[in-house]
Amino acid sequence: MDIIIAGAGIGGLALAHGLLADGHAVRVLEAADGPRRGGAAVTIYSNGAAALDGLGVPLPEGLGARIDALEIRDDKGRRVSRMDLTVLRKATGFPVTTVVRERLIAHLAKGIPVEYGQKVESATPDGTVVVGGRTLQADVVVGADGAHSRVRNGDPAAWNGWTTFQGLSTVPAKDGLLIVGEAGLVGLMPAGDGLAQWWFDVRGDVFDPAAFAGYADPVPEVLANLTGLGSFPHLLHEPAWGAGKVALIGDAAHVFPPSQAQGANQALEDAWTLRRTLAGDGDLRAYGRLRTPPVRLVSQMAASERTNRPAGPITKALARMVPAGLAGRGYVALVRRFSTVLR
Ligand SMILES: Cc1cc2nc3c(=O)[nH]c(=O)nc-3n(C[C@H](O)[C@H](O)[C@H](O)COP(=O)(O)OP(=O)(O)OC[C@H]3O[C@@H](n4cnc5c(N)ncnc54)[C@H](O)[C@@H]3O)c2cc1C
Repeated sequence: MDIIIAGAGIGGLALAHGLLADGHAVRVLEAADGPRRGGAAVTIYSNGAAALDGLGVPLPEGLGARIDALEIRDDKGRRVSRMDLTVLRKATGFPVTTVVRERLIAHLAKGIPVEYGQKVESATPDGTVVVGGRTLQADVVVGADGAHSRVRNGDPAAWNGWTTFQGLSTVPAKDGLLIVGEAGLVGLMPAGDGLAQWWFDVRGDVFDPAAFAGYADPVPEVLANLTGLGSFPHLLHEPAWGAGKVALIGDAAHVFPPSQAQGANQALEDAWTLRRTLAGDGDLRAYGRLRTPPVRLVSQMAASERTNRPAGPITKALARMVPAGLAGRGYVALVRRFSTVLR
């Protein structure tokens, strides 16, 4: 088939690998003039890693940092919970890895003839795509053009009142760390090559470092080393999967806040599922039906922003009693519910 993919982000590039391997003629049209830079880092959980593997573009050893544990602390530095993520790796065969986004995009773009500087203006269910005033025709058009998708056409994503401020630094980080207090959440993840991704999730659209001044270590060190502060409003819209010859994947289909670190992972799940659908009977409505339950679950959990608010004393006391291995097993069950690929 002749397939046009709008957007050379994580979802569009990964999908292109699978479709090219299946013998389709694929054009990837990207609005930007070159591969995306910035965007700090992104955590690929076992479900996203399994999808990448299935699409023929696995994460290579040495790209990014493997995350074997995730710890939540309160703003005084007291441990609330710890989750052993090696349990997830053993159960699924795929690790959890945080990768500098620019490096992930460079890895995914290898071997894909992306056409840069090609902004898709619109797409219609009959497979017509308008780009730069020209009209193209395809058997299938994939909208992988992110939260402000032109292919999705209408129903714009709305801000839910939270914002992430994030960047990369050389502050030492071993495991994943989330510190939650009244001012919001501070996250720190090793991202490979001596870099760590840090982020602050706050209510509103203003970042006031002073609000986090009383947080325990390593927050003062993170605050002293803030560089390249990027601001990302938490956006949300109803999942939509396209119509006729148009299919949507990733943020174009279902943007939600980053609080569950699943946006890229769900984009990869979509790509994996769409590739299989197109290799089978090509029923795009069936593709949407398969993806709706996991996406709805992730989206609802992310939209609640529960992870960004301090837990009450009883919840904290109960969480402290759960061993890291047991917490890891609980998470395996949740990630399976998030996933079409692992099921
Ligand atoms: C602060 C923050 C932290 C996050 N952390 C994580 C995480 O740890 N784990 C995780 O799984 N997810 C995370 N996410 C979510 C993740 O970044 C997104 O869900 C993911 O990038 C979506 O991929 P995508 O390919 O659908 O869209 P995008 O990555 O947005 O790519 C879309 C591409 O389309 C291009 N484009 C846009 N419009 C057009 C057009 N009209 N024509 C052609 N091209 C166009 C863009 O230039 C871009 O290259 C995070 C998000 C944020 C905001």
